[in-house]
Parts: sequence; structure tokens; C-alpha cells
Amino acid sequence: MSLTSGVRLPETILFMGAGFSKNAGGLSTADLSYKLKKYVEKTPDFLEDAIRNERIANIIDFEGVKEISEVIRGDNSLFLPNLFTLIDYNLEKRKGLKVKDKFFDVDRLYRIKKTVEFLIQAAEYEGFKEGIKKFERYREFCRCLQKFMIDEHYEKIIKYSPEEPEYYMSSLGVVTTNWDGIVFWEMMKLNNEFNHKSTDVGLYLDFGDLIIKKNDKFIISMDEGAVRRNNKINKKPYRIMKYIATHGMFGTRVCPNCGLYFADFGNFKNEHYEMLNTKNLDLKCPNCGTETSIIDSPLYYQSYVERKFGYLIYKWEEESINILRKAKRIIFIGYSLPDDDLQIRSMLFNVFSDGEDRKAYVMDYSDKNKSNRWYGADEAREKFEDKKDLINKYISIFGEENVMFNFSGGINAFLAGESISCEMVNEVLRGEI
Ligand SMILES: [Zn+2]
Repeated sequence: MSLTSGVRLPETILFMGAGFSKNAGGLSTADLSYKLKKYVEKTPDFLEDAIRNERIANIIDFEGVKEISEVIRGDNSLFLPNLFTLIDYNLEKRKGLKVKDKFFDVDRLYRIKKTVEFLIQAAEYEGFKEGIKKFERYREFCRCLQKFMIDEHYEKIIKYSPEEPEYYMSSLGVVTTNWDGIVFWEMMKLNNEFNHKSTDVGLYLDFGDLIIKKNDKFIISMDEGAVRRNNKINKKPYRIMKYIATHGMFGTRVCPNCGLYFADFGNFKNEHYEMLNTKNLDLKCPNCGTETSIIDSPLYYQSYVERKFGYLIYKWEEESINILRKAKRIIFIGYSLPDDDLQIRSMLFNVFSDGEDRKAYVMDYSDKNKSNRWYGADEAREKFEDKKDLINKYISIFGEENVMFNFSGGINAFLAGESISCEMVNEVLRGEI
């Protein structure tokens, strides 16, 4: 069996980039760059609080960040990628870095990198906390995704037997480059509520290797195998949706001692941004008991340097390639195909090396957008001069005939009046536009 034959699930992938989370308070690379530049110029108040935590205090090297930042030239909007590139390049070479008359050895560079990651999380926390006021639309959107899963369950159980993937796996999957886990978080909450009430089906996200805490106990991770085992024994079948965060997810931890990947989401009662609160985030590894903190989140940040990633990033990458390759359509929400995202670029090249046609829906934002509608390639090029680069990038990957654009701004493309319309979501998920 070749990689592209056999099971072709999921057939629709929601691919989310920074623009997806923008209205919820998510920050773009440029936003993060400006914020970090500000922190470097004036030490933020939260830093003092955070270093009361011993583990954080032992790693944080704010002075080092400030000193290295002095040699970062160029536009402030690129401050962050340039900083990461400089650090990564010298970490990769294992040589350390000389800045003016000071030398930063590899250990110190590593701590500086962790400090930058810490500052990013603190910046995102502020952003999301502010954005939560506009969060209702994201909840509505996730409710539509859940409804899609439920409707599909009733549609498929009469056609397929429990052993067939169609019976238990959603034809919808999510690949996100965002760290925030908005969809993961909201879907887990909604699914928890639903599962308590429903006697027909249990809904889950496939979170693979991640071990999470529920009712004060760390439970086995949820994946295809767990669902199949349940469906063999229990009367109430499970249905699962693939969710891959290719760049890692806030709130998760990799134990620095034994490598276990785990998280405590507090039974999903909190808002997603609360995982980023720099206080109160100590978490013991359920395997070996090592204390971990916010700096042990496995987060991948794109820089211009090709890096060796941890085994998790490799796995996520491979899994993303697999599910993207099997998809019939990919819905890009707020993903601008940035040149510096080497990971996603090489992933997409890999996916399209089979020469098959796939359909793409691209949801982005333009000031020139007047009405909420979809445009084919020609019309999009003609009306949205400001989006020419983006339009051409997508066309070069998918082909003129296979791309549709909507420039209402992320999930606003699904707005009917004041709320998200599940019918409009469904049209796109089912490829009817
Ligand atoms: Zn451990």
C-alpha cells in the first residue's frame, strides 16, 4: 500500500496560522517583536514576580537578552526572528557567541533563549487576557465544529462498521501553527459537556502522546488506538478528531529529566490564556516527580536557521504531512505562508510532491474587503492588490483552479450578522463553495 492509497481520512483540514487567533488577542510575529523590544528597553513588572519561582530564577537571564539585543539591527518588526536566528545559529554550532567584548557560552545562550521564550509567553498572556472580551465568536465557531462531528456520527454509523475508520474518525482534522490551543481548549470543554449528557457517542480530540490530568489523575493519552479499544468493549462509541499543534502548545510540558510529555489543564475549567500566567505554574512530572515550569513547554519558533528539533516536533511534522497528504481540501485561516517558516514550507513541499490536486480555501484580512464573500483566483488578484503576494503564493502551490479566497478576516468569513453561522462553516468544510 502506498502512502497515498488506502484510508483517506481526514478529508478536510483546518490549517490555522497567527491570523486565526488575532481577534482573540493572539500576537503576530511583528506584534511580538515590538513587545519584546519594549521589554528589553524597560524591564517588565511581571519579571520580578516570576523570578520568585526558584526554577525560573535559575534559568532566566534577562541581562543576557538585553546585551545580545543591542547588536540586533534592522526593522523592529523583525526583532524577534533576528534575535532567535542569532541565538539558534550559535547554539547549533555549539560555539557560543561574542557580542562586543563579552562572550556568551553555549549554556548561557540556552538560558537566554529560554528567557526569550518566557517573555513571549508573558506577552501572549497579556494579549489573550485583553482579547477574551471578543472571544464569543471562537466559542461559536468551535460549537459548529462539534456539531459537524455529531451530525457526521449519525450519518456514518449506519454506513460503516465499528472497525472502519469512517465509523470513529472525524473527516475533519486540525493542524495549527499557533501555540495558544484555542480550538483544542474550547473543543475539550464542549466535548466534556456533551459527553456527560450523550448516551449515543463520546467526542474526543486525538492528542497523541500527551498525558493529561483529569479528576486529579494523570490519564492515558487519547488517540486512535484508545478509541478502537473503547469501541470494541463499550456500548457508547467514541468519535475522534485529529488535532496537531505543529509548533507545540502552551500549557504542555516536556519533563527535562525523563522526557515525558504531559499537561494539567485543570479539567478545562479555565480560559486558555490562564495556562500562560507566569505565576503559579509549577507542575510535577507524573513519571519521575521532577518540578517543571512554564519554560519547559515544547515550543518551536521559526528562525532562519535549520535546527534539530526534539522528537516531538519531528513526530508532529510527520503526522501533519500524513494527514495533509490525505486531505481533499485544506482551509487556511490566517496563515500567510511566511518565508521564514521553513518547517511548514518543507512540509507543504513534501505533501505536494505526489502531484495530486487539492482544493484550498484561504481566509485572510484585507482593508479593501467590502463584503463577506469568496473570490476565485482571477477576481481576487484584480480586487486585492494589497494581497498579491499571498494570493500568488497559494496559487503557486494549489493551482489557479483550486483556490478560493475570502478577505473578511479569519473566522469573520463565517459571520452572518452578529454570530458565526454553522451553515456557512459547513459549506466550506464540505467543499461546497
Ligand atoms: Zn519526568
